[in-house]
Amino acid sequence: MVLVDENCIWCGVCESIAGKIFKVEDGMSHVIKQPETEEEINATKDAISACPVAAIKE
Ligand code: SF4
Repeated sequence: MVLVDENCIWCGVCESIAGKIFKVEDGMSHVIKQPETEEEINATKDAISACPVAAIKE
């Protein structure tokens, strides 16, 4: 299961990479759905790699 922890700095990178999975609002990124398709899973992995503070866990 993918989640965002309290280290999120609200930079918006994850939403720009995987907009179906992450939505940035209210001071942090929220997981709006778990990745299911191969495209969503790959985009989520890219977002995890790109997060500057390693706030996305799976
Ligand atoms: S990329 Fe990381 S720090 Fe930036 S909004 Fe997403 S979870 Fe937060």
